[in-house]
Amino acid sequence: MSQAKAYAARSATSPLAPFTFERRALRDNDVNIDILYCGVCHSDIHVAESDWGPSEYPVVPGHEIIGRVTEIGSRVSKYKVGDLVGVGCMVDSCQTCPSCQQNLEQYCDAGMKGTYGARDMIDGSLNHGGYSDHIIVREEFVLSIPEALDISKAAPLLCAGITTYSPLRHNGVKAGDKVGIIGMGGLGHMGVKFAKALGAEVTIFTRSESKISEAKQQGADHVIVSTDDVQMQAAASSFDYLLDTIPVQHDLNPYLNVLKVDGTHILVGLIEPIEPAVHAANLILKRRVLTGSLIGGIAETQEVLDFCAEHNIECDAEMIKIQDINEAYQRMKKGDVKYRFIIDMKSLKEDA
Ligand code: NDP
Repeated sequence: MSQAKAYAARSATSPLAPFTFERRALRDNDVNIDILYCGVCHSDIHVAESDWGPSEYPVVPGHEIIGRVTEIGSRVSKYKVGDLVGVGCMVDSCQTCPSCQQNLEQYCDAGMKGTYGARDMIDGSLNHGGYSDHIIVREEFVLSIPEALDISKAAPLLCAGITTYSPLRHNGVKAGDKVGIIGMGGLGHMGVKFAKALGAEVTIFTRSESKISEAKQQGADHVIVSTDDVQMQAAASSFDYLLDTIPVQHDLNPYLNVLKVDGTHILVGLIEPIEPAVHAANLILKRRVLTGSLIGGIAETQEVLDFCAEHNIECDAEMIKIQDINEAYQRMKKGDVKYRFIIDMKSLKEDA
């Protein structure tokens, strides 16, 4: 066992605060990683605050982890001490069900094990994530970080990156398609970059007029202010795909209305019941598809890291210290982040 320093939420209403705990002893197939950087995902807030039903506390969030290997188990073959590696949203799955066999571990029949908030498949202990000084993960769930990536900006690719890349690829987005990205936060701004890299014509749907010029700097061809009914109506029946990253319940009907015949609305942000209800006519009358997508498998996560290295794609990030995490959460809730917070984990050492 090794003692880990971390920041944790002790309840749905308490701010994150320093916390120490024991990481499990290294198993034969485990990699021990010293954490350098950890991105801050809106899911961290959802779990810390029990937005998705009661969480098990303490919650040590963080599933966009970049670090260096410090120790390997006797059966580890892919990594060696000193390697630069990443860990995303999953740390285990059954490895045998049809989904796992197809490199879709996120859809494991036994349930994939999240980097935090889930229980270890072997000893049943509560997993703790990347707002900590080190993490121990079985090698199958560890990613290689390509040398061409700027490691201070790469962490969000492990969640925001794969979560937007995977559905665009799976749904076959291609050159010339009209793609709308709904919500310009951590996921949304990566969605713009990937849709552009795939050759699509990209529109950002944002509530925030103030983000219009920034959206264009991000590479968006057009911007629609989603609170303006005139702009929403003018866009009727014109999009092939929508990638919806809004983190709260919202009315899907005005968005479905902007899809062409056979257009597809992909939910990644909403993990609650849809409220208000979807009017079935909005699907039936134009044969539209409403679907969802969960992160991506390990092989595809490696693919997105390599894709970003090859296409020079990086996250736009604001570096913070771990001591600023509660303020960062408040800013994210107001949509005030450009466009991902990344924690410089050496700041953990500043606490006594
Ligand atoms: P962010 O907070 O970074 O961005 C969300 C954006 O959505 C905001 O910037 C804002 O954009 C828009 N938004 C926020 N609140 C509202 C609202 N009340 N009404 C309309 N628009 C709103 O979040 P992330 O990008 O980190 O995450 C987005 C969601 O995706 C979260 O729910 C997260 O849990 C989920 N997620 C899902 C995954 C999956 O596998 N499916 C994986 C990772 C995350 P603007 O100001 O432009 O309107």
